[in-house]
Amino acid sequence: MSRAFLLSAGALIASAAQADTGYRGPLIDVHAHIRFTDDDAVTTNQGKGTAPIAAIDDAGNVTQSALIVIARAGQMDKTRAQNDAVIAAAKAGAGRFYPVASVHPADGADAMAELDRMVAAGVKVIKLHPNTQKFDVSDPAVAAVVGHCGEKGLIVLFDSYKPWDLSEMGKFLLLAATHPQTKLILAHMGLTSFRETVTFAQLRKLGVGENVYFDLSAIAVLFANSPVQAELVWTIRKIGVDHVLFGSDWPVDTPAVAEKAVRDMGFTADEQKLIFHDNAAKLIGLR
Ligand SMILES: [Zn+2]
Repeated sequence: MSRAFLLSAGALIASAAQADTGYRGPLIDVHAHIRFTDDDAVTTNQGKGTAPIAAIDDAGNVTQSALIVIARAGQMDKTRAQNDAVIAAAKAGAGRFYPVASVHPADGADAMAELDRMVAAGVKVIKLHPNTQKFDVSDPAVAAVVGHCGEKGLIVLFDSYKPWDLSEMGKFLLLAATHPQTKLILAHMGLTSFRETVTFAQLRKLGVGENVYFDLSAIAVLFANSPVQAELVWTIRKIGVDHVLFGSDWPVDTPAVAEKAVRDMGFTADEQKLIFHDNAAKLIGLR
C-alpha cells in the first residue's frame, strides 16, 4: 500500500469524523406554508394539506413543523375558515405540527376579535406578510395588531424582506421598541438587508430588541458557501445565537436543503442545537 494512499485514506476518515460532530437531534421548522385551496399556493407545485409537509419532514430530520396560513383583507369568513383549517390540520398531526394562524391588519376590530378567538383555540403564533398582504410595516393598524398580540401572548411571525422598502428593517426596529411585550420573529432575517439586523445587537445593550428573533429560512440557502457567509455568521453571533431559529420556507426550499445550508455555515454543535431545536422549543413552548 502506497504512502499516498494511506494519507488520502486518513484524510477521508478525518473528514468523515468532522462531518459527524454537528448536532444530530430533532429539528423544528418554524417556517413552512400549508396550502388548502387552489388560490392560496405559495408556489404552483405546492401540494395541498399536511401530507406533502409530513413527507419532506420525514425525508429530513424535522420532528415538528409550523403550518402557516396568510389572511387576505376584507374576507373575514375566509380568514376564519382558513384559521380553523390550520388548527384542525395541526391537531390531526398529533404533535408533529403547530398552527400559525393569520389576520389582516386592515380588518381592524374583526382582526382583533379573530386574534382573541385564536388565543382561545391554543394558537401561539400569528403570521403577517407585508408583501402578500400588501401593507406597510409602519401602518398604525400593524402596530395595533402587534400590540394586541403582545397583550394576549401571541408571537408575530413577519416576513422581513421587501426590497422596494429598504427602510423596512428600521420600521421593525421601531415596532419592536414600542411593543417590548410582543415577541417578533423576523423571517429570512431581512435576506439581502441582513446587515441592518446587527442594529438589534447594538440596541440590546440599551435594553431594546430582546423581543426580536430571526428565522434563517431563505437566507441560509441563499448565502451558505458564499463570500457573504462569514459576515452572516458573524452577525448571527453578534445578535445572539439564542435569538435565531431554523426554517425552510417550504415550498420554497425543503427542510433538507435548508438544514444542509445551516450546517455548511460552520456553527458549533452547541450553536446548531439552539438554532435547529432548542430556541424554537423554548420560544413557542413546544415539547
Ligand atoms: Zn414564507
